[in-house]
Amino acid sequence: MKPLFDVLIIGSGAAGLTAALHFDERYKVAIMCKGSLQEGSTLYAQGGIAAVLDDKDSIEAHINDTLIAGAGLCDEKAVRFTVENGKKAIQWLIDKGVQFTKEVDEKGTSRYHLTREGGHSHRRIIHAHDQTGKSVAGTLMDLVRKAPNITLFEEHIAIDLIKQNGRCVGCYAFNQRTKEVEIFSAQAVLLATGGSSRVYLYSTNPAVSSGDGIAMAYRAGAKVSNMEFNQFHPTALYHPEARSFLISEAMRGEGAILVLPDGTRFMPKFDERAELAPRDIVARAIDHEMKRLGVDCVYLDISHKPADFIISHFPNIYSKCLHYGYDITKGPIPVVPAAHYTCGGVAVDQHARTTIPGLYGAGEVTCTGLHGANRMASNSLLECLVYAAAASEDIMQNYDSHFAIEPIKAWDESFVTDSDEEVLVTANWDEIRRLMWNYVGIVRSNKRLKRAQERIALLKREIQEYYRNFRITGDLLELRNLIVIAELIVEAAAARKESLGLHYNSDYLD
Ligand SMILES: Cc1cc2nc3c(=O)[nH]c(=O)nc-3n(C[C@H](O)[C@H](O)[C@H](O)COP(=O)(O)OP(=O)(O)OC[C@H]3O[C@@H](n4cnc5c(N)ncnc54)[C@H](O)[C@@H]3O)c2cc1C
Repeated sequence: MKPLFDVLIIGSGAAGLTAALHFDERYKVAIMCKGSLQEGSTLYAQGGIAAVLDDKDSIEAHINDTLIAGAGLCDEKAVRFTVENGKKAIQWLIDKGVQFTKEVDEKGTSRYHLTREGGHSHRRIIHAHDQTGKSVAGTLMDLVRKAPNITLFEEHIAIDLIKQNGRCVGCYAFNQRTKEVEIFSAQAVLLATGGSSRVYLYSTNPAVSSGDGIAMAYRAGAKVSNMEFNQFHPTALYHPEARSFLISEAMRGEGAILVLPDGTRFMPKFDERAELAPRDIVARAIDHEMKRLGVDCVYLDISHKPADFIISHFPNIYSKCLHYGYDITKGPIPVVPAAHYTCGGVAVDQHARTTIPGLYGAGEVTCTGLHGANRMASNSLLECLVYAAAASEDIMQNYDSHFAIEPIKAWDESFVTDSDEEVLVTANWDEIRRLMWNYVGIVRSNKRLKRAQERIALLKREIQEYYRNFRITGDLLELRNLIVIAELIVEAAAARKESLGLHYNSDYLD
């Protein structure tokens, strides 16, 4: 029989939407997402997208900066591939209608404003004020909604991939409205499910970032790599109601400094690049100072810059902070580190192919080799765009008009009942995220990792038993994935007998 779709895209962030829009109208495309179309990390991206767009900049410089940040673990071919395709990817967004911020230079010429972020040797971050993700997602969502060949399935949670004769041909998905499990079949499946930073107690990511795609691919037998490299953003707003609202690195790029509660600047003593050192160095320095002084946060100060400059560059951050009672034009704001980006994930090649035939991956769910042991700021949206385009091209090139699948078994719910103890799910969620934060966070040690391994093994048994016995819910599906993510991170972290990039183990310091 013929599959329902030519392509099933799981995820509607920058990667999923970009991939969908690269298919011409002959291809029947489905996009599935957990909540509404817009909910994902992409919506919250502030700083921008890195690409070589200035004459004074060069491909080699961007490659070199990325390799340095990646601490020797980048795949140089993947880095070159991504960087070389950067300009084309940005032009594609401009052609689609994304309005990036412009400036008028000394000669009166209007051009795109490029900002600078940690690790970048040039100004190369194109942005839409401080709401780049919203602008990109908004533009692409409008187009996807109008495309006649694309069908949207919002509020559907992919549960597990379906394989036939070793090839991925679809997935089971939980329809959150009907509470039924549905079958989706396709000639090719693209995972664009984003990262897994919600495995940590404090995270800048939205709730959908529970690593579902990584866990599903792993269960299906795909190769997963580099899970020990978790990026903690140095500066999330410290406020009980702000839910780790991110204070963009671009603020430091434009001159903001980090200070202790007594006003002393501390970054220069940790790194000669000071506030513009790579994120891991800044996050560890903050962690170190907070633990040394026993304080809950440090402070970020840009108030020495003119107020109109601050408000025009950071309108979103300005108004969000004002909402929480902090005026960034007048004084410092409290900040703490929070889990932000998953460098590891499902291993893919330059055609975005995973190790399972028919299964592709793009965006934060993947490990392309671009980031190595540490992601350089604003390289991730670029990676989403470049690999989504590569996936679509490869799927179209290998399209088989005679492709057929065997009938797929319906989901069997005959052995499960409704849970009468939802509290177990909530308690396990909390336990995983807390233990990951405490034992597998910014600074790790062999003892902490061993402790985490023991607790995770126990939690895994409990969650598996619960999953076998009770009818599924959205929370239970995410919990089942989170425990896989926790296990993968801890296993990878324990296996690495060194400190490298984002993985910092206090038992292995040179
Ligand atoms: C606050 C913040 C600021 C950032 N700023 C920048 C920046 O300035 N520059 C930059 O380059 N990067 C930035 N990043 C990182 C970047 O935004 C992300 O890496 C990128 O947006 C990820 O895009 P994605 O398409 O891979 O996934 P996402 O945008 O996270 O989308 C994931 C999608 O998958 C869906 N999904 C997940 N699981 C399932 C499932 N089981 N079933 C169905 N659907 C599922 C979700 O519903 C969602 O639609 C930032 C991240 C955050 C959180």
